[in-house]
Amino acid sequence: MSKIVILGGGESGAGAAVLAHKQGHSVFLSDTGRLRDKHREWLTGNGIKFEEGGPHTMDLLLMADEVVKSPGIPDNAPAVQALRERNIPIISEIEFAGRYNRAKTVCITGSNGKTTTTSLIYHMMQKAGLNVGLAGNIGDSFAYQVANCNYDYYVLELSSFQLDGIYEFKPDIAILLNITPDHLDRYDYRMQNYVNSKFRITRNLRADDCFIFCSDDEVTVAQLKQIVLRAQQLPFSQRTSEGQMGWLAPDTHTIVLDYMRQTLEIPVEQLSLKGKHNIYNSMAAGLAGQVLNIRKEVIREALSDFSGVEHRLEFVERINNVVYINDSKATNVNSAWYALESMNTPVVWIVGGTDKGNDYSELLELVHQKVKAIVCLGIDNSKIRAAFSPLGLPIFETQSAREAVAQSQALAAPGDTVLLSPCCASFDLFKNYEDRGRQFKTAVKELPR
Ligand code: ADP
Repeated sequence: MSKIVILGGGESGAGAAVLAHKQGHSVFLSDTGRLRDKHREWLTGNGIKFEEGGPHTMDLLLMADEVVKSPGIPDNAPAVQALRERNIPIISEIEFAGRYNRAKTVCITGSNGKTTTTSLIYHMMQKAGLNVGLAGNIGDSFAYQVANCNYDYYVLELSSFQLDGIYEFKPDIAILLNITPDHLDRYDYRMQNYVNSKFRITRNLRADDCFIFCSDDEVTVAQLKQIVLRAQQLPFSQRTSEGQMGWLAPDTHTIVLDYMRQTLEIPVEQLSLKGKHNIYNSMAAGLAGQVLNIRKEVIREALSDFSGVEHRLEFVERINNVVYINDSKATNVNSAWYALESMNTPVVWIVGGTDKGNDYSELLELVHQKVKAIVCLGIDNSKIRAAFSPLGLPIFETQSAREAVAQSQALAAPGDTVLLSPCCASFDLFKNYEDRGRQFKTAVKELPR
């Protein structure tokens, strides 16, 4: 029995507390914020000691043999620094739960596309009749499920913050979708630190494990040259078929997946998720399906009937022949790039929010090609105005979802698309990106017809 302290009582922390308790450890959970009722009940129901809504009781924290830290708590938090000074090991919920997990895991990371690809693979595995759970950065706590469920497989979405706290954890199938700058504020503004964090997904892979990755991603490919990787490598690409296990046949516009000579071809138009980025996500998911030995027909069906994930290029409504799309989850430049790239009509683009150090110049060309008007939705839009005003497009300022949608309706002509793909975090005007997306959808539903 060891003394486990859990820092942060959200979904991952409360779940880790339940698992640690079940495994016979002495557990103390500490959160400076308020717990959700559900999580408080998990703790009280199991007689687990905890504190909330006040400062950490450092004496209790420092008695820990090991600490499970929520991915939301940064390394420079004073409590974390105090623990590090005493050399108390700090791990993530994924590492902790991984010790007790006996199911096979398919783990997905990347700067963009994690939730989409994770959900797609989960959909495919369910369709294939596998006994599979969904966890990580999505849905219910991995640790809680390890404590209470009996799955044969898990599909886990892993953020870089979760990967930072893994040491021994080993996926059976690891997927790295892409690496573009994000969250650099948590990585001392050094891209290499962030790259290293993403690559932690590969650190314990063995020769019979699989590593699925995008070989069009230059950062990934450069890093692969620097490390020793024992796993089987399954690269995919939209630029070339050479050396790939997944590629795009340009003449027929078909994706080809070719793992262990189990060739599977699917025309892009049959994929349910649209846009160039989703071709990558579909390839990654399809290859995972092949490794899992899922039947071709099931893979094909899953890739073509998946209904998508809320707030990711989500179709909201067509009103007066204008399509409204909610891509509120596009909180960085790269994801907004892919959203714009997938548009086939003139676009009224709703953009803005809390800027995370964005470089908008990468978008200029696409905005020039696709966008007819820009509607800023944020408190301080000066950086966006400065970046795009050279294009000579009309630019409007709004400060609520309703105002932005009304302004967009006034600008859009039949056949156009109104796209919310904000490129920025949402915390200036909204609780989070979900709140922003929902307010956008409500405003669309209330538009005059
Ligand atoms: P994550 O979970 O990594 O944040 P999501 O699946 O939630 O990713 O998608 C976030 C945003 O990124 C969406 O707006 C989507 O349009 C865009 N996106 C999805 N997949 C990719 C990809 N493979 N490459 C670049 N952008 C993507």
